[in-house]
Amino acid sequence: MAMAQIGATPKGGVNRVALSDADKAGRDLFIEWCQQAGCQVEVDQMGNIFARRAGRGTDLPAVAAGSHLDSQPTGGKFDGVYGVLAALEVVETLNDLGLETERSIEVISWTNEEGARFAPAMVSSGVFAGEFDLDYGLSRQDPEGKTIGEELARIGYAGSLPVGGRDYHAAFELHIEQGPILEAQGRPIGIVTGVQGARWYDLVITGQEAHAGSTPMARRRDPVQGALASLAPLYELAAAHQPEARLTIGALTAEPGVVNTVPGRLTIKIDMRHPDAEILGQLDAGLRAILDEAARALPLNFELIDIWHSVPVAFDPGCVAALRAAAAALDLPALEMVSGAGHDAVYLSRVAPTAMIFIPCKDGLSHNEAESIEKSDATAGADVLLRAVLAMAEGD
Ligand SMILES: [Zn+2]
Repeated sequence: MAMAQIGATPKGGVNRVALSDADKAGRDLFIEWCQQAGCQVEVDQMGNIFARRAGRGTDLPAVAAGSHLDSQPTGGKFDGVYGVLAALEVVETLNDLGLETERSIEVISWTNEEGARFAPAMVSSGVFAGEFDLDYGLSRQDPEGKTIGEELARIGYAGSLPVGGRDYHAAFELHIEQGPILEAQGRPIGIVTGVQGARWYDLVITGQEAHAGSTPMARRRDPVQGALASLAPLYELAAAHQPEARLTIGALTAEPGVVNTVPGRLTIKIDMRHPDAEILGQLDAGLRAILDEAARALPLNFELIDIWHSVPVAFDPGCVAALRAAAAALDLPALEMVSGAGHDAVYLSRVAPTAMIFIPCKDGLSHNEAESIEKSDATAGADVLLRAVLAMAEGD
């Protein structure tokens, strides 16, 4: 709640967009707490924060836990923040109990997870994992043309530590579910075994601008007809792959976009997701076949532009097993599930054994100022994290 006062919005949410003054204040508070807990804090060149509680075996790869402190412009109190502060709570609990661990424990806060100000999302864990190079990460711009590198320097978080190359024995990210499933099932814990894959496209359908009154219907090359011919079968394709497939048409933009002109161009933003790479590939092929058929039937041009492709991720079986054991030992009802949203853990899983824990959020709401969680669920999630981190920090 103290963290949620930084960037607090009148509707009870949080605006702590990446590398804003509020983000700096949140980082400062977090680091103060980490130092009070005896952690050694380092910041890398992407502004990622690593707070280390030293173990006995200082040369051994550490166990990592964390998430992100940045928010959406009208975000909630818990998205990301909960996972960072719960990881710090693990450290504080070990301190309170006077427990040393064999491996060191690192609490991580990743820069610009949300992507709300600087696209793409998860860019800094992406640089850490080698998905993007450092220059790419630092040169991402906000809508005003300010770069991540400039803004990191401005708020004093352009660290000197090289990005990546840190070796972890295991890594965990605890996060609110951002969906309705755990709440509906009355289970406090989600053991996240993987993250579904996503493909983003811009579908550009080109016809010809024409007068809405004087051009006979039969003479028109209307791209909206192309949307009708392609989107209906695309929804049928998604329906044929339920319950796991997800199809979203997030934007349809007609140009010139006036009431009395047949548009010359229609751009349609498509988001398709599935946890199975093979089926996501089938959905992709299905979309292309639908467009080919529509292009044969109509005097229109269909261009499909690939915007983003994130392959489905299967988390580390050892980390998943540690979470399963932790939930069972605590007698907490757990559901094994696949994440519908992307997280820093997706990139981290490429360079470290990784898994995630979810807890329910009220009405499944997230990216919303009304985002809310129960204290009992927050405690349950942190308890599972503590047990799993401890098991990994002691085991071999
Ligand atoms: Zn998040």
